[in-house]
Amino acid sequence: MGEERKQQRMETLAVHGGEPRPRPEGSVVFPIYQGTVYAMSPEAGYHDLQYLRLSSTPSQRNLHGRLAALEGGEAAVAASSGMAAITSTLIAHLKQGDHFLAADGLYGGTHDFITERAGELGLSYTLVDAQRPESWAAAVRPETKLFLVETISNPLIRVPPLDEVVTFARARKLVTAIDNTFASPINFQPLKHGFDVCMHSATKYLNGHSDLVAGCVIGSKATVTRVRRTMNLLGGSLDPHAGFLLARGTKTLALRVRAQNETATALARVLAGHPKVEGVNYPGLETHPDHAHARRLLSGFGGMLSFRLRGGLPAVERLLARLEIPYHAPSLGGVETLIVRPAASSHAGLAPEERRRIGVTDDLLRVSCGIEHVDDLVADFRQALDAA
Ligand SMILES: *Cc1c(COP(=O)(O)O)cnc(C)c1O
Repeated sequence: MGEERKQQRMETLAVHGGEPRPRPEGSVVFPIYQGTVYAMSPEAGYHDLQYLRLSSTPSQRNLHGRLAALEGGEAAVAASSGMAAITSTLIAHLKQGDHFLAADGLYGGTHDFITERAGELGLSYTLVDAQRPESWAAAVRPETKLFLVETISNPLIRVPPLDEVVTFARARKLVTAIDNTFASPINFQPLKHGFDVCMHSATKYLNGHSDLVAGCVIGSKATVTRVRRTMNLLGGSLDPHAGFLLARGTKTLALRVRAQNETATALARVLAGHPKVEGVNYPGLETHPDHAHARRLLSGFGGMLSFRLRGGLPAVERLLARLEIPYHAPSLGGVETLIVRPAASSHAGLAPEERRRIGVTDDLLRVSCGIEHVDDLVADFRQALDAA
């Protein structure tokens, strides 16, 4: 059974992975254990307590098993948000005086935590261009401890040379931490590629239904214990009700993400061929600057794409007004297609020149493909583009 289980495919792992069998009382679905605290033996220590904030109660542990199985990790811990997962991981691995490398253009919350709070915690950092490995070595200092990247960047959908990140960091004994939210374990499994710790905003693909906020951290037992004990003190554990919804969401992860990969690929090709579109950012397109290594590293190119519309803001406004299926909203990874203008949302805080410098132009639109029928989505985009 051991060997066979190791070879289970993602669809099977998504339904059964990491869960005890039989589940309690023979229930097909692992139940919600809502209790705050559990009876303990007189000799149990603090770390043996089953208490909700310590993320050690039965439904929480069950969720951790699923998440570890999905990422092929030894252990996992769920968090009350993606940000709780990321900040707890950084705080768990870095101490006063340490320096770390972080990719430029990380998710806004992560970027702000680093630039606004890391210094106050006695940490220093260098933001590096994840696309230019030749620039990394100059940023390393004797006290550099960690390298933080994202699998796929927002909103230009770049894929850094992730294998080079691992090689580079290993040679210098840096911990490699990766935010795998955009890829999901269906398209990339960082731990199998040598990353030390993998984090998610489970709010996005892992849950997939735009109805909760959660995060998680996956890695070796030692790494996850370290993060969990830090998170226990920060108070970032996930409530069992939200955890139940997340566990339910993960069961369809493989089906959803594969459909989203296909839809994004089809939509990217249609957009690329449309006269009103200036350019499309999707790693599945042969024209994408990262296509070659994305093809080698990823098992799917993801459900996220962005494109520039000809005609400036008036055309953008006409397009958004005409689209009938996508919601105009930030966030991503759910079953509903969402479209957003990054210059007015995720990157609104940057000065216009800075936005232009990094390629977040006013006419850039980002799409998170849902699971609607691809032909309906394509037809909707076509009619809206024709009128834009
Ligand atoms: C949304 C997101 C986060 C933050 O997650 P929350 O669940 O909102 O805290 C972090 N990283 C990436 C890449 C995200 O998309």
